[in-house]
Amino acid sequence: MSDQEPRRLRALAAIAVGQLRHIGPKRTAALASMGLESVFDLLTLYPRRYIDRTRRVDLSDLRVGDEAAVFAEVTASSSRRTRQGKSLVDVSIVDGGETMKVAFFNQPWRAAQLTPGVQAVFFGKVSEFRGTRQMTNPVVDVIVGATGEDRDASRVGGVVALYPASGKAGVTSWEMGGFVEESLKRAGPLLDPLPAPLRHDHSLIDRTAAYWGIHLPRDLADVAPARRRLVFDEFLRLQLLLALRRRRLEETAAGVRHPFDEHDLDVSPGSLAGADSSLVRRFLSAHRFALTGAQRRVLSEIGRDMSSTLPMHRLLQGDVGSGKTVVALATLLMAIDGGRQGAFMAPTEVLAEQHVAALRADLAGLRVRDDAVLGGDREVVVQLLTGRVKGRERQAVLSALGTGGVDIVVGTHALLTDDVRFRALGAVVIDEQHRFGVQQRALLRDKGREHSLEALDPDLLVMTATPIPRTAAMVVFGDLDRSVLDELPAGRRGIVTSWACTPLEVQGAWRKVRDEVAAGRRAYVICPLVEESERVEATSAVAERTRLATHELRGLSVGLLHGQMKSAQKDEVMAQFRTGEIQVLVATVVIEVGVDVAQASVIVIEDAWRFGLAQLHQLRGRVGRGDAPSHCYLLGEAPNDEARQRLEALVESDDGFALAEVDLDLRGEGTLLGARQRGRSDLRLASLRRDEALLNEAREVALELVAGDALAHNVEMVDELRLFVDDEEAQFLFRS
Ligand code: ADP
Ligand code: MG
Repeated sequence: MSDQEPRRLRALAAIAVGQLRHIGPKRTAALASMGLESVFDLLTLYPRRYIDRTRRVDLSDLRVGDEAAVFAEVTASSSRRTRQGKSLVDVSIVDGGETMKVAFFNQPWRAAQLTPGVQAVFFGKVSEFRGTRQMTNPVVDVIVGATGEDRDASRVGGVVALYPASGKAGVTSWEMGGFVEESLKRAGPLLDPLPAPLRHDHSLIDRTAAYWGIHLPRDLADVAPARRRLVFDEFLRLQLLLALRRRRLEETAAGVRHPFDEHDLDVSPGSLAGADSSLVRRFLSAHRFALTGAQRRVLSEIGRDMSSTLPMHRLLQGDVGSGKTVVALATLLMAIDGGRQGAFMAPTEVLAEQHVAALRADLAGLRVRDDAVLGGDREVVVQLLTGRVKGRERQAVLSALGTGGVDIVVGTHALLTDDVRFRALGAVVIDEQHRFGVQQRALLRDKGREHSLEALDPDLLVMTATPIPRTAAMVVFGDLDRSVLDELPAGRRGIVTSWACTPLEVQGAWRKVRDEVAAGRRAYVICPLVEESERVEATSAVAERTRLATHELRGLSVGLLHGQMKSAQKDEVMAQFRTGEIQVLVATVVIEVGVDVAQASVIVIEDAWRFGLAQLHQLRGRVGRGDAPSHCYLLGEAPNDEARQRLEALVESDDGFALAEVDLDLRGEGTLLGARQRGRSDLRLASLRRDEALLNEAREVALELVAGDALAHNVEMVDELRLFVDDEEAQFLFRS
């Protein structure tokens, strides 16, 4: 084995599991059902945890009521039926001379699994039965299988790795350990694409040692350095891909250099701005409020991007209410000042229309040069383009976009259709990015150039109100620059959040709604989330509105908004809510994103536990936009611990970033990363929470390798990266 060429990961990915000893067609199929097809798959199936067989829990220390993980050997087992006809398997286990009973109801197959000699971990609660301690239906991990199985128990060391096993596929953790061990041996020495000096600088062990250390540690001290190396590799590959993608985009970029003067950001309302000063300057000097410090800072970051020839590729994160809209608007004005156009994409029609109205109001009186009109200037033109704008109206907008008669177009995904062409698209702002997938973002970028007569890449600003922890942003949006609005406009009165469980508390919530309405303000009521379909959800919203209008909120003007309504209806309802004709709006989550009615001062969320934390935070952000103190009531009990923690976090904090961290803790990163994964998923071991420092190191190394061209010369590393992207992307990233 020693003279064998070190293997690349690609070579391991090419060895099918069927080539290993003891893996025939049946097991091949079972492993395939778990997504395990190659030796590489097995080696990256990491242990869930380890059992240190040298440190046992003493059975005699266990008390009734304890929850414990007991590692013990089966000495006897028997099965029978109870008087009620249930199957019962009784197992005796022994450890250090002490014995204990374990009972399994309705799991007849345990008799075959737990035969004498089998060593396993039993995890469960200790109870008492007829004077002796017993565990009933514990979770079982077989560590050392029965004799006669393929793996030699005597060869297993003091520390045993436990693998994700699959009862359904019939593969035990013990067998899996055998397959992995065999894979390690078959693999032999592994090629290490990380140069030794780099490994040394970052205290990383070499790759072969890392795979052995994580799967077959001699003692537990072997695991941490092994894990460190493997996590580093996961992060490094991902960051290399992101850095490379970015570099390629820049190499092929044909960006626009928009005019920008930092000093224009320092004007405040009421100050003078001559007719020949920049649009941004004139806009800010006539605006109804001054920028917050954070808005000022972010706009200067954006301005620097806009005025460079590289197209901007920036993510703007700002909590609900932090004032992203004015940032978007100023960005678009920078583009218009240079004689180009801007596009503003919203996730829904309701929002697109709200934006058009708001933008027009904010821009009223602002004039731009236009040699095609008499006098040489005209007001900034903002147009709506959604699926609903049809026929002649649509044709008019399209043709004005083509000639430059429209400065800002606001729309939904419909802006991406092929017949939308610009004279000179200079900047694109995407609002509430989580509704737009990564794919759509890419599509937009690609189309940008083709859609514009000018054939340059527009600058891109992606805005999100769903705060993402820094680490997650590095992973999910690592190819974007990042700006953060971390300051709310002054004068906010805050939102008091209460969790109303008892009937008395719920009554209090409805009373608050009546009081606020009596004081001339408005309220939202969010209906329970219904998973089955939008139609069912709409039906239940209709019923809830009727119920409230005839009971708790009788006498008030109660309106309704749900996803099944026609857009025109929705608009009408929103308009009535704005004017106060409707005092209470009963709605489904359609209002989650961005709806802005400053007079709304109370929101009641029914069955709050059904919503995710980020969603609840978004919903709550619909109030607290005016100068009255606002209230948010979360209704309903929490059916489980996780839900309770979610609601409690919300009561405690209204800081979106703090909540995002809580969310990451509660849900893990899987959900966050899910949308990202293209090709083979590569973050198996890494934890964004635990491994932040390592992520930073890997990112630095990646940036260095890509910037210095060292990557291009590291053939092995490039070969490895190719394993993790699909063909199309590989072509983009690695063509020479
Ligand atoms: P976001 O889209 O980030 O949730 P908006 O842009 O809708 O927030 O702004 C929320 C509210 O705060 C709006 O009513 C807006 O007019 C107001 N606002 C924004 N920036 C400022 C500011 N600098 N000073 C005062 N009010 C502001
Ligand atoms: Mg907004």
